[in-house]
Amino acid sequence: MIKYWWEGPLRMVRRDYIGDFSPFLNSNLDKLAKETKRVWKANCEWIMATPGCAPGTGHLTTFNSDKFEKLPGLGNRDLLREYVPVAKKHGIHVIAYINMHWYSYEFAEKNPGWEQLCEDTVPYGRKHPLYGNGTTFCVNSPWRNWAFDMIEEVMKTGVDGCFLDGPVVYPGACYCQYCKEKFRRLTGLEKLPAFLDWSDPSWKKFAEFRSQSWADFMKDAMAAARKIKQDAVMFLNGGVFSASNILFGYDAGRMENFQTFTAAEDFFHCTEYYRSPYTTLNFSRFLSAGKNPSVVFTHHCLSTWHYVPLPEGELSTALAQATAGGSNTWFAIFYPAFEKTKKYATDGLKTACLIEKAEKYIDTSQSCAETGLLISNRTLYYYNSTHQGLCYETGSGKEQGLIMESGKQLTKDIKKLREICEGILNNENNGCMELCNFGHIPVRVIWDEYLNEENLKSLKLLVLPNSACLSEKQIETIMNFVNRGGVLLCDFESGMYDEYGNKIERKNWLDFLGIEKIDGIFRPSRIEDYFVLTRKTGSIDKDILIPRPVNALAIRVKDAEIIAKFLNPLNLAYTQPQGVSDYPAIFISKRQKGKVIYFAGTIFESFNKFHIDMHKQLILSLIKKYVPGGLQIETNAPGSLAIEMRKNEKGVCVHLVNVTSEMKRPIDKIIPLTDIRVSIKINYSRARSLSSGKMLKSKREKGRIVFVVPEIKDYEIVLLSG
Ligand SMILES: [Zn+2]
Repeated sequence: MIKYWWEGPLRMVRRDYIGDFSPFLNSNLDKLAKETKRVWKANCEWIMATPGCAPGTGHLTTFNSDKFEKLPGLGNRDLLREYVPVAKKHGIHVIAYINMHWYSYEFAEKNPGWEQLCEDTVPYGRKHPLYGNGTTFCVNSPWRNWAFDMIEEVMKTGVDGCFLDGPVVYPGACYCQYCKEKFRRLTGLEKLPAFLDWSDPSWKKFAEFRSQSWADFMKDAMAAARKIKQDAVMFLNGGVFSASNILFGYDAGRMENFQTFTAAEDFFHCTEYYRSPYTTLNFSRFLSAGKNPSVVFTHHCLSTWHYVPLPEGELSTALAQATAGGSNTWFAIFYPAFEKTKKYATDGLKTACLIEKAEKYIDTSQSCAETGLLISNRTLYYYNSTHQGLCYETGSGKEQGLIMESGKQLTKDIKKLREICEGILNNENNGCMELCNFGHIPVRVIWDEYLNEENLKSLKLLVLPNSACLSEKQIETIMNFVNRGGVLLCDFESGMYDEYGNKIERKNWLDFLGIEKIDGIFRPSRIEDYFVLTRKTGSIDKDILIPRPVNALAIRVKDAEIIAKFLNPLNLAYTQPQGVSDYPAIFISKRQKGKVIYFAGTIFESFNKFHIDMHKQLILSLIKKYVPGGLQIETNAPGSLAIEMRKNEKGVCVHLVNVTSEMKRPIDKIIPLTDIRVSIKINYSRARSLSSGKMLKSKREKGRIVFVVPEIKDYEIVLLSG
């Protein structure tokens, strides 16, 4: 049973007028609310309380208030007070959007001391004008009280809560007097360290301080809203999993205590490079890993062309993937162009219809994946390998006109090393999720905060994608998980640093993994370097050459079974292999009731960079062989069908997200899949399609249910029962 409305399934929409509210002012508001409900299938709508447009209009309101200046041109119209009662009549909750990161220079000049300052005391927004024009304020400055007043005034209009677009703690900031004073008070240190100075121990204290300052702001922001309305919702944009988190102070685990939702944007962008078709699913899994309900934001527009709707396939899959990953949906539509193009854009809403239809099965559902994936924010913040040998650029390996682009040695400074480590982490985390998507492995993301006995109970497999910076407590939890019968799959430097990134001698941990000694690191390579299996594994024969991960440790093993070895390194094209080295690529240790599978190379990084199926096949074979009961899901579907499983008290839902298309993004049309056979390790015997309402052909087979879906368009949800 849910206690608050915001715990139930929400489908959010925002109409974006980009500074010209006349389409709203000239509308029949009742008609607008009906459209929200019937066309957009939304039950929660956002309204701008302060606009986010040039030249920084965060200080102007769209509603009447004695305390704040109103956006010119609105006369005595009050957008919030006019729309809230109409929306409520139609059962729509209203959330006010408040821009809290973009202000005009003119407004900043009226309020000296509020701007975020860089180290050289120049305001951040003067060095880097926001969106080309405007500045930004500091969460520790007196601006915070202005912001809380704004929140109270917004809440007085009757809205259900606020979304804060910002504040943002910008990279290189903040060095204002208020930050200096607060830092001194909290740490006793007189001076703020230089930004990103990894050689200064107080840099990490400053990193913690920036993140905490943001959380402190949110705590007071929530209190301000709840002064007016007891169950007001309050949240902001920020919860990503990237090694750039430290630059912005992002820390979803720290922040979740002071907001109602964990939410972040996954807007589609046209890019010149490969972009995974599963970005929203990966994002959604990450956001839903905390205790709050989560939301993925999707712009219903084509990248930077806001007046062109998102192609049908992209909108549809964004909504499906957000739902399959356990998050609520949200999209913004852009006026005025939207009025003319609406007929083209609504096709993608068939998926929204399915999500609405299936809401009682989606409501408060939990992942039932047997595989857990640790996304460690501590590692994202602080991982800086002590292996200077990583400072080597591999080149693209591209061969053209008899020239091959090969690598070069880089300067071995601490900053460069950190950049390399950031690349490894981003590729490892994303690559691990991608491998699971393409391999049909349902996966539950685990944050550092939730790596505990209770949360690991339902898992059979725990994956650490180079989760390097772990606490003693986390190490103990992981070892207990294995000793009780779990399987651990980890790679590279997992657990070799403490939670602040300090290299640590953890003999018990290395013993546990089967490592006697680390001799060093192989030169990073993407050319002619390989590893071989010592015996046939799955469909891959012994001695078949498998591309080596770019980065790999040279390890001596103790008390473990070696199942793959690196070849002697070459890193030179068109050269004969020079035999197998003594260094293992993969080894397996039995530990009490469980097992550890350890990869000496960054296998997930390589999958994310090169998408090599052999790497995926190898991981799948190892899971099938060593995890009790084998793979949770087996299917004849291609990797372009992602499969997730979630459950609530109404049953278990199997989410089938089809991204089969024209092998490019943006995806226009999805190509349907037919006669897809799915076998799941679960004790059920009946399967029903929620899109058609029809029962599917199914049977029980050796502790598994096997069913066939005749056709999967963009998205299907199969309900298991019986
Ligand atoms: Zn400051």
